[in-house]
Amino acid sequence: MMISLYQENCPLCSEPSEYEQCDRKKRQLFYCKKCKQLLITDRAKRELVGKNIRHQSLSDLSGSLTSNEILHISFEERELKCVVEDYTFWR
Ligand SMILES: [Zn+2]
Repeated sequence: MMISLYQENCPLCSEPSEYEQCDRKKRQLFYCKKCKQLLITDRAKRELVGKNIRHQSLSDLSGSLTSNEILHISFEERELKCVVEDYTFWR
């Protein structure tokens, strides 16, 4: 299967990065040099990007994970929810 990569600044550290659209609901899988890979829902991204600040602690957390892990960021009940999940589940 052909995977399309799109250019966009990372929602956590604002550095240029790439993402692919994830088929499971409305999520994007980002690849960032600093934050490695991270999974974020459309809703959570709007919440993070709209604030126009760097999300250093989330960036550090995501960047510290192993290649088998991924930070999954969603927005539920008016709060950002960040869970470390098995990367292979999302591939
Ligand atoms: Zn980043």
